[in-house]
Amino acid sequence: MIQSSLIPEFAGHVNGRWKESESGQTIRVVNPATGDLLAEIPDMDEMETKLAIESADRALAEEFSFKERQNWLLAITELLLEHREELARIITLEQGKPLKEATVEVEYAAEFFSFFAGQLGHISPRALPDKIRGCRWTVHYRPAGVAGLITPWNFPLGMMAKKVSAAIAAGCSVVFKPSELTPLSAIAFWSLAAQAGMPMSRMNLVLGRPGPIGKVLCIHPSVRVLSFTGSTATGKVLLQQTASYVKRVLLELGGNAPFIVFQDADVDLAVEALVANKFRCAGQTCVCANRVFLHLDLEEKFIEKLAERVAELRVGNGLHTETDIGPLINRAAFDKVARHVADALRNGAKRIVGHDPEPPSKNSGCYYPPTLLTGARQGMQIFKEETFGPVIAVAGFSAESDVIELANSTAHGLAAYVFTRDYHRAERCTRHLHFGHVAVNSGTGPTPEAPFGGMMQSGLGREGGVEGLVEFCEIQTTVIA
Ligand code: NAP
Repeated sequence: MIQSSLIPEFAGHVNGRWKESESGQTIRVVNPATGDLLAEIPDMDEMETKLAIESADRALAEEFSFKERQNWLLAITELLLEHREELARIITLEQGKPLKEATVEVEYAAEFFSFFAGQLGHISPRALPDKIRGCRWTVHYRPAGVAGLITPWNFPLGMMAKKVSAAIAAGCSVVFKPSELTPLSAIAFWSLAAQAGMPMSRMNLVLGRPGPIGKVLCIHPSVRVLSFTGSTATGKVLLQQTASYVKRVLLELGGNAPFIVFQDADVDLAVEALVANKFRCAGQTCVCANRVFLHLDLEEKFIEKLAERVAELRVGNGLHTETDIGPLINRAAFDKVARHVADALRNGAKRIVGHDPEPPSKNSGCYYPPTLLTGARQGMQIFKEETFGPVIAVAGFSAESDVIELANSTAHGLAAYVFTRDYHRAERCTRHLHFGHVAVNSGTGPTPEAPFGGMMQSGLGREGGVEGLVEFCEIQTTVIA
């Protein structure tokens, strides 16, 4: 079992106190690197979710000033940074990623709280400059109400921080459900939120299986914003479940990112950016390159350099300092990656780096070797779906118009990357790519200061930036004669 000063109880947090499940049922949380049991957490259900929503709703009766909200956000920022090492250890133990990446995740989470602490001026009431129809018009950004938040296991602290920080800043109260695979970072965060002086009846943590909890968050009338990060398939279920209740639904869903390298690109820069972008979190990120398109003029040189870098990466337990790539989250993730690679090889792709690993006998220790495939094509599974693993699949191209068409030939529109030294080409490509985040000569993903989110089936709404704050506000216009 995990021992941590930040985890006082293996419990949810409802109505200001730690809470077990009424049924006494629990869920095992294991270390994906070793299979060791880390915790048994309560399997809460509809009943506890309802209690959490009611607590969050009652707590809204007390209003807090911008200054008070700002103080909480800054106090949380400080506490996250003060406990960064322990939080990183918890993330690595429950998620598997290397400790160095987990530390960056804690810092990223802290940045969201400090960023939103500085944004409250944007939701001050805004008086329209002119008297219109003889009246004074003012736009108010009211707290939307109770925010139901659901996040996945790949960034257990980071994904939660994006939502919770914006919700607190907007004056909402929170009911949060983390992934049952990685609930320990959330428990640790809740103990820090209490230390930050937050009124904890506003902050509710519900642990358990997703179906029953998600259903209540979707249909309870007091939940006014449902903010979800996860797969497009689950996002569609939540949209359907909320449809009759007309509430705001924010969806941060799956991607299928193209990474396009033109003939005039800086090859070294692009190789390094691809390695950093693709292998973070063992390739289990929504923004990581899923389809790499290389101009035929530089393909050979690029592959040579890339193969050297991929072959250097060390796979292992994330707690070991030399590890670059940790285990996949579970056996299902391993099987998906293996299936995509097998399908690509069967259909003519060539494996430049990597090998078929022994299938793991358990649901843990699911290490997949960093792999480089060339000769990928439209129609292969690896190009159609997110692989969510440490595999780079490359296709060649020769014309700009063709590669833009190929890149756009997906229902997803989350992140895309373009490498070129030609400013005009970069500008043309970004304009024509249907993706919410397009990086040029960089493999970087989102930052708190900028709105981030998907086009098409990658989602609705934005996280980060002022836009991410306004998502948690209900806009009211007052007209005073
Ligand atoms: P998932 O199966 O959709 O799960 C995500 C979250 O939803 C988890 O907390 C899960 O709970 C919960 N969930 C599952 N079924 C639910 C239901 N019927 N009702 C309510 N909640 C439900 O996604 P995943 O495979 O774990 O996560 C990876 C996906 O997330 C990828 O597609 C990735 O691209 C996407 N993602 C997107 C972003 C973004 O910003 N756009 C960021 C990160 C990840 P349990 O885990 O407890 O089952």
